Formats: sequence, structure tokens, C-alpha cells
Amino acid sequence: MELSITEKKEKGTRPEDAKLAFGTTFTDHMFNMDYSIDKGWHNPRIEPFANLVLSPATMMLHYGQGIFEGLKAYKTETGEIRLYRPRDNFKRLNKSAKGLCIPTIDIDFIMESLKTLLRLEKNWIPETPGTSLYIRPTVIATDPYLGVRASHTYRFFIILSPVGAYYSAGFNPVNIWISKDHVRAVRGGIGEFKTPGNYAASLFASEQAKKEGYAQVLWLDGIERKYIEEVGAMNIFFCINDEVVTPKLNGSILPGITRDSVLTLAKRWGMKVSERKISIDELIKAHGDGTLKEAFGSGTAAVISPVGEMRYGDKVLTIADGKTGPVAMKLNKAITDIQYGKAEDTEAWIE
Ligand code: PMP
Repeated sequence: MELSITEKKEKGTRPEDAKLAFGTTFTDHMFNMDYSIDKGWHNPRIEPFANLVLSPATMMLHYGQGIFEGLKAYKTETGEIRLYRPRDNFKRLNKSAKGLCIPTIDIDFIMESLKTLLRLEKNWIPETPGTSLYIRPTVIATDPYLGVRASHTYRFFIILSPVGAYYSAGFNPVNIWISKDHVRAVRGGIGEFKTPGNYAASLFASEQAKKEGYAQVLWLDGIERKYIEEVGAMNIFFCINDEVVTPKLNGSILPGITRDSVLTLAKRWGMKVSERKISIDELIKAHGDGTLKEAFGSGTAAVISPVGEMRYGDKVLTIADGKTGPVAMKLNKAITDIQYGKAEDTEAWIE
């Protein structure tokens, strides 16, 4: 396949780094590619960022057959552009594709197209420490049809958005609300895929949590409502005694790439690391006897997000005195140093 490039005549300007929020500003160009049963994926092109023209009957809008990814490009002090584990994001996109009956993509071809797009948009990548260019690859079902079945046509696109530093006000712990009434996903469902329905399912409880003054929801499993799953758009880790522990992937948890980075580094550092079931009762007990030392989320947006407080019903669990613990601190530094080229890329995560 030949990638065609149509450049925008009048280029936009990137807002000042200090004014960047998340996901509000988009770059001049986007990548587009179409799928039909007879042609497969075809017509890959980089062109000016533009609205999509879709029939109101477009299947994605009615039945949610779509998938996406989220990754970042970082600019180092010397101006080098670095992608963090991008192939892992496209592998996950292909797993989500299979789960949602969407045709998979050729990872090598998409990597080359993404790099071409990034070279064209290099001035849109912010430079201040902590800032980055967020990359959103998306696939949507495009048949204009109101019957429920897998679509026969799709659009793949990649849009780019310069984003500000997540911790502009310092490395602040968040408080989280453990939902008793709502679940995000169930085993056998679509929880392990990055698909819009999971985020739609999370909105009601998230709004409730916000009203209660909590930043994010920590989800329990959908069947027994007893075991910890994940939090907001992050996976979750706990330090209990000397064990760094995260819920085992079970089909209803998104397999986070940052989660995998945390597990890899903690093991390399000789820490006791486990992936297993963690019940809410175990956490309450560990909090009670003082062995719950730290809790933190992991994800592309914040890398590591320390948790200062968790609320379950009328129980409030304060963790590490509401401060950032040493394990969260060390992991955040190690991963961001690799991303920004300040430490050796020992795991070959950068491309
Ligand atoms: N869980 C959910 C539901 C998410 O949306 C994300 C963000 N992609 C994560 C976990 C963390 O995944 P990653 O480390 O790959 O960003």
C-alpha cells in the first residue's frame, strides 16, 4: 500500500505549553484509511485534520462497534522524538479488533505511517518537561445500516493532540471511590478491549463519585463484587507488606501497557511482585493492621498516580498518610526518565 500525503496550506500554531489541557487541541493533519470486504484496508492517507462526514445511520453511532488506543510521543531535550512501546498499543488494538469483529491492521505499516505523520507534525510536540503529544488511533464501523451485525466497512484514523504536564501542580495523590452499586465490565464481556462501551458503562458511577468529592472510581468485579479490578482509566497496584500486587488479568480488566512496565521494572529491581486476586476485605484488613503501605494507579495519562484515600461505603481508608509513597515515586521516575531519554532504555521500549 502506498501512503499518500496532502499537506495543509495554512498551518496552525501550537498553544503555549503552559496553556495545554488534555485532548482539546488537535494538530494540522490526521491519518485515514478505509476498509471494505472486497478491497481490505485501502487508501491510506495523511491529510488535513477534518470533520468526518457520516450518515446518521452509521453503525458505530448506534451499536458502538469501535475501538481505540492511547499512546504518547515525547520530545527529548535534544529534540529527538520518542514513542513509548507503540507496538504494544497496536497489538492491543488488534486484540480489541478481534473482540469487536473488526478487521485487524498491519502493525508495521501503521508504525511507518504514524512515524511519517509525526515527522510532519514535529512542531506540534511540546517541549516543556512533562508535556507530550497524545496519539489517538481509532477504528469505527461505517456501514449506514440499522440492523445489528458486524459492519462490512470501517474507517481507521489517527489524530494527535498536544497535552500539558499531568502533574503541573506537583505529584499529588488522588482519592478514589469504590463503587458498590455499579460495575464496569464482566468476565466474558468486553472489559479487556479498549472500546467505547466500557467508558459509557463507567460514566454514571464516575459522576456519582465526583459529586462525593472523589476523582475516580475503583471498580470491583462484576460477579461477586468482591475483588478489585481497575480504577478510572488506570490499572491499580497495592504495596502490602513487601509485596507489590495488582489484580491478575481475568478478561474484564484492560491489560495496561504501563501496568506491564511496572511489573517488569519491579521484578528487575528484585521486588516481590504478584498478579493475583485482591479482595476488598483483604485491603480493609491490611489497612487496619498497617500493612497496606501504598496504592497507585498506572496508565498512559499520568504514568503513576498515587492514591491517598479510598472510600468504600462509609469506610474511609487513608493510605501512606495521604502522601506519595517511595515505590510510586521510584516507578514514576524510572518510567518517565526512559520516556524523555534521561535514562537508558534497558527494556527496548522506545521506538
Ligand atoms: N484501564 C483502562 C480502562 C484504561 O482506559 C487505561 C488507559 N489506556 C488503562 C487501564 C491503562 O492502560 P495503559 O497503561 O496502556 O495506558
